[in-house]
Amino acid sequence: MNKEITDILIIGAGPSGTIAAGYLEKKEVSVLVVEKEQFPRFTIGESLIPRVMDNLAEAGLLDTVKKQQYQKKFGARFIRGSEEAWFDFSKKYGKGWDWTWQVPRDHFDHTLALAIEEREVPIWYQAEVLQVHRTEEGWEVLIHHNGIQKTVFCRFIIDASGNGRVLARQLELEAPAKIEDHSSVFTQISEVSRPAGPEGEQISFEILNQRTWFWYIPFSNGNSSLGFVAPNQWFEQFSKNTSEAFQEMLEQTAYYKGRFDQDPIIFEPIKIQNISKNVSSLCGKGFALTGNSAEFLDPVFSSGVAFATESGLLAAKLAFRELQGEVVNWETEYSEYIRSGVKVFSTYVKAWYDGRLQRIFFSKYQNEQIKEQICAVLAGYVWDKSNPFVRNHERLVNNVALLAES
Ligand SMILES: Cc1cc2nc3c(=O)[nH]c(=O)nc-3n(C[C@H](O)[C@H](O)[C@H](O)COP(=O)(O)OP(=O)(O)OC[C@H]3O[C@@H](n4cnc5c(N)ncnc54)[C@H](O)[C@@H]3O)c2cc1C
Repeated sequence: MNKEITDILIIGAGPSGTIAAGYLEKKEVSVLVVEKEQFPRFTIGESLIPRVMDNLAEAGLLDTVKKQQYQKKFGARFIRGSEEAWFDFSKKYGKGWDWTWQVPRDHFDHTLALAIEEREVPIWYQAEVLQVHRTEEGWEVLIHHNGIQKTVFCRFIIDASGNGRVLARQLELEAPAKIEDHSSVFTQISEVSRPAGPEGEQISFEILNQRTWFWYIPFSNGNSSLGFVAPNQWFEQFSKNTSEAFQEMLEQTAYYKGRFDQDPIIFEPIKIQNISKNVSSLCGKGFALTGNSAEFLDPVFSSGVAFATESGLLAAKLAFRELQGEVVNWETEYSEYIRSGVKVFSTYVKAWYDGRLQRIFFSKYQNEQIKEQICAVLAGYVWDKSNPFVRNHERLVNNVALLAES
């Protein structure tokens, strides 16, 4: 049997894994990335938020992504009937990036992975982690790679396996989801009749009802991503055939109805049932869970890749310090930090679905200062405690929603 030794094993070459690898390569740590699929591979999560830019930069990956000429994203538009709410990242509270990108993830993730390989970090594709076993010195990891079983010995595991949830499953860390019963159906189209200007460039969310919404994400390659998120039950009213069902769903939109009738679908719509995921613990002796393998709430504010990169980067920094012989308090420095950001976002996601945030967004009386502070949260700056809408997220969202009602 084949044996390999590395200091840090990263499971998964999505953005969480490659960001971690990018940071560790800069620190000259020995790293191996193992990835179950062959890249490029499709995955969902195409709208970034500005905080991702900071993380890409710190891992030395921003310049590579800049060269790809992805569609720039300057904010987000929410549509409800004849009402529109536009959040402009250049008008957000505090410091930070005021733009980012909308990316086809197969291309984006492949770009990051190639950049990592160019920096001589090995990535094994078609390498699936089957089993992990804790030893005195670290871990013994059984991997199925190109038809061969291999064992990798490592001191630390960063589990960035997304929905593979490798360590969550093997170490029995799975926990009940924070948002139940939400599913999504999505596809991409070749948008032959795309309108010129912002209408065909900016990401938009159309609200069908308080708990059901549609996304439109145009890419610079002429394709666009379309998707619906709703309670599981909402999807039951449509045809069994997914393409027909998707057309029926589009018929239920008001703003976009008819707009994509001439645009060929690129792949059969995909359904993901129960999208929210959670774990009982984000780390333990010799391992950290990052990105979706740790936790995923809901796509409504496009926060997934921001959390994936934030947690991947932080886990890499702390693992590096630990390898240097420092004592790291993973509970406070990792879990508490990540969970504090998740908590802020959870408040906004919950307030979205119970209607409070929609009342704030579409209120006739907009207070610019409040809007800027909420905009910074939507940009992913959820660790900036100088922002009252981060510091006192629950109370302020509540109070402003009450005012918006009156
Ligand atoms: C409907 C929907 C819409 C979304 N929209 C957005 C959005 O607009 N913006 C946004 O930021 N986020 C969005 N997200 C969330 C986003 O998809 C994820 O948060 C993000 O992709 C997580 O990145 P990651 O690196 O943690 O995982 P992934 O990108 O999923 O990468 C994990 C990798 O691990 C590999 N892997 C799995 N198991 C194993 C194994 N056993 N061995 C080796 N490798 C393995 C997989 O093949 C995969 O390549 C959305 C999610 C859903 C469900």
